[in-house]
Amino acid sequence: MKKSVHPEFYASAKVTCTACGAVFLIPGTVKEQQTEICSNCHPIYTGKYRGVVSSGRVERFQKKLAAAKNAPAKIAKKKLTAEEKLEKKLAVKRKEKKEKAPKKAKKK
Ligand SMILES: [Zn+2]
Repeated sequence: MKKSVHPEFYASAKVTCTACGAVFLIPGTVKEQQTEICSNCHPIYTGKYRGVVSSGRVERFQKKLAAAKNAPAKIAKKKLTAEEKLEKKLAVKRKEKKEKAPKKAKKK
């Protein structure tokens, strides 16, 4: 075996499940790692459809929701400015149309 090429091997590496807290000792090259789901809490093993407390997308969404509730004034201002910009653009286009329309009428 070539030296300094192979990763360090741990006969009993620690794997912790973040959903149920179960700890497994498995052979591996990483000493400690975490998993979001394991055989102790996965629905296919437990037989319960919603037995897992999911952490990830739901938590991120709830954080965003809380942040939005804490600062609703800023969002409202941004929306208003966007609407105002659109209204300004439309007003400019209307002006251009009004300006062009009489010219065409004069030409004809
Ligand atoms: Zn688990």
